[in-house]
Amino acid sequence: MSVSVQGLSRRFENAAAVRDVDLEVRSGEFVALLGPSGSGKTTLLRILAGLEAADAGRVLIEGQDMADVPVRARRIGFVFQHYALFRHMSVFENVAFGLRIRPRATRPDRAEIARRVTALLERVQIPELAARRPDQISGGQRQRAALARALAIEPRLLLLDEPFGALDAEVRKGLRRWLRDLHREMGLTSIFVTHDQDEAMELADRVAVMRGGAIVQYDTPEELVEHPADAFVAGFLGESVRLEAQWDGTALRFDPLPLPPLPAAALRQAPPAPGPALAFIRPRDWQVVPVAEAGNATLRARRPTGHGVRLELELGPLVVEAELPGSPLRPGDACLLRPGSARAFPAG
Ligand code: ATP
Repeated sequence: MSVSVQGLSRRFENAAAVRDVDLEVRSGEFVALLGPSGSGKTTLLRILAGLEAADAGRVLIEGQDMADVPVRARRIGFVFQHYALFRHMSVFENVAFGLRIRPRATRPDRAEIARRVTALLERVQIPELAARRPDQISGGQRQRAALARALAIEPRLLLLDEPFGALDAEVRKGLRRWLRDLHREMGLTSIFVTHDQDEAMELADRVAVMRGGAIVQYDTPEELVEHPADAFVAGFLGESVRLEAQWDGTALRFDPLPLPPLPAAALRQAPPAPGPALAFIRPRDWQVVPVAEAGNATLRARRPTGHGVRLELELGPLVVEAELPGSPLRPGDACLLRPGSARAFPAG
């Protein structure tokens, strides 16, 4: 189901939680709302679900304005953290709940409900847990059960708020892959909120990066990384170090840091206007040359990565990380550190 958000705004007391947001989601797409805490992600999701009213703007689902459509009739499945499973009900009853509360005319009979719940529990791979209560299963299993409950109403659109927020890294990773496959197999349109960039990059077809209630960039993960729209997006994504710099028209200067200037040809995008700039340098964009005498940096620590080595280097008051195919440097060694390329945006 396609979703079209047009000019959506919402204020709380004196603060704008969502500001004039436009967002187009195509049928079958998996979209992430990514941003720091307080950027308006949850409020936007709640407005889409119909749990929160907007002050201005419209939400269209498959072309239909949702303004007068009650929450129940929207056929939206959601997995929100505070809409956790009912603790006094078994997993089976939790999943059946959305079907049992339907108006009589559209409510399936008992046998049909049992058939559907069983099929869903198989789909989320926890059929053996049907009789357990939520406190008798693991966090990852609870998330699967919550998802089965959301899917029971055969939603046109699935909304997920930090679906894996409380789980540990390994479980999260497994569930992410599983959710991506489920989304595809079931032909869902899904929108999820996260503040974890890896999660957004791994799951989403497109990512809307939010800041201060507004969407600052909406693009594929590749485009966000390759062509961040501004310093905020560049800083929020990836592992770049952010350095204050000056663009003098021909080179990027890092004074007072002891780094050589970077010529225009080494910029990964068009240079900013002359003046104060913010430079972003990725770990793999550093060049590290061992030197016998005083260099400009000192190695603090090193650790192997899958395909090389990660160096932690002291550069004046900063610690920067560089990733190289290999390096003879040992902790305490001096070296000459210089950026091989960078991205630069006007400061402020
Ligand atoms: P987080 O990642 O921390 O959940 P978020 O990006 O989802 O953050 P929102 O929860 O949408 O952000 O909040 C956006 C802004 O609106 C915040 O400044 C928040 O304090 C404010 N806000 C949200 N809900 C309410 C409310 N019910 N009453 C007052 N202010 C609210």
